[in-house]
Amino acid sequence: HADTAMYGAKEAGRNNYQFFVPEMNARALERLMLENALRRAIEGGELKLHFQPQLNAQDGALTGCEALLRWNHPEIGAIGPAQFIPVAEESGLIVPLGEWVLHGACRQQVAWARAGHRELMVAINISALQFRREDFADVVTRILAETGADPACIELEITETALMQPSEALYERLVALGRLGLTLALDDFGTGYSSLSYLKRLPISRLKLDYSFVRDLPGDQEDAAVASATLSLARDLGLEVVAEGVEVIEQFAWLKARGCSKMQGYLFGRPMPPEEFERWMAAHDPARVIGSPDTV
Ligand code: C2E
Ligand code: MG
Ligand code: MG
Ligand code: MG
Repeated sequence: HADTAMYGAKEAGRNNYQFFVPEMNARALERLMLENALRRAIEGGELKLHFQPQLNAQDGALTGCEALLRWNHPEIGAIGPAQFIPVAEESGLIVPLGEWVLHGACRQQVAWARAGHRELMVAINISALQFRREDFADVVTRILAETGADPACIELEITETALMQPSEALYERLVALGRLGLTLALDDFGTGYSSLSYLKRLPISRLKLDYSFVRDLPGDQEDAAVASATLSLARDLGLEVVAEGVEVIEQFAWLKARGCSKMQGYLFGRPMPPEEFERWMAAHDPARVIGSPDTV
């Protein structure tokens, strides 16, 4: 084949030749390097959790936060989760990485509860691959026991794509997690295509309206239609909506006027390391949030 070059792969063993498509080879190598670096990062303390506030849209009160993974590579610098989570998923590293996140976020919930923030919810992102493992509910049960975290303050964010091929086993898993007392949220809502009838059956209590539908509100008519439909669907099904990526007051006012109950975004606070999040909590004034205009 014309696109295929043949390289002698000495490293792979004598008399051992392999076929590579050159550009795929470069990408594969990049992935492999990233994978090895990530493997070291998990053990070497290069990973941290940041926390982004979530607010009650009606009274401006802080209700919880989302734990977001940050990787600071000693030479490369910051690498975003959008870049390394897919690598972690393809390599299977998502399993130890996901457990590390669950542990860290649960420990943080305990620390904040001890400091008096007993109602503060901590939301944790769960990869589809993590959720689809048979032992997932057992892993969560064990981590709750090890850390002493309050299940009533732990929320699991499961992506819409993780539930794309619904099965009885996945349904049972959600029920088991709900029985532990955890809150379940459907992340990136609107980007996949959940069957709406299925949504009704699921023990899920919150939808996270994806940033891509919030970004161009209220001007973009299509995004406004998706956001409106999500809010009315949620209302009819008795679900809460958390809008993510709220950056400007116009988005906040538009969503609030349509009954969106929770909000998250740079308008209120960026993802922050725990110490900074604590300073943010101390300085937070709900009245300043609801002092904003109600309608646009
Ligand atoms: P996500 O769960 O949908 O998280 C929301 C993303 O939106 C975060 O990006 C957050 O920093 C960003 N964001 C929040 N407010 C705003 C805003 O006002 N404007 C804009 N432009 N962006 C905003 P981040 O931290 O880069 O994370 C990207 C994605 O990586 C997350 O999307 C999630 O899917 C994944 N991720 C992050 N941490 C973890 C983790 O611990 N485990 C797993 N499995 N996935 C994670
Ligand atoms: Mg999330
Ligand atoms: Mg999301
Ligand atoms: Mg998103």
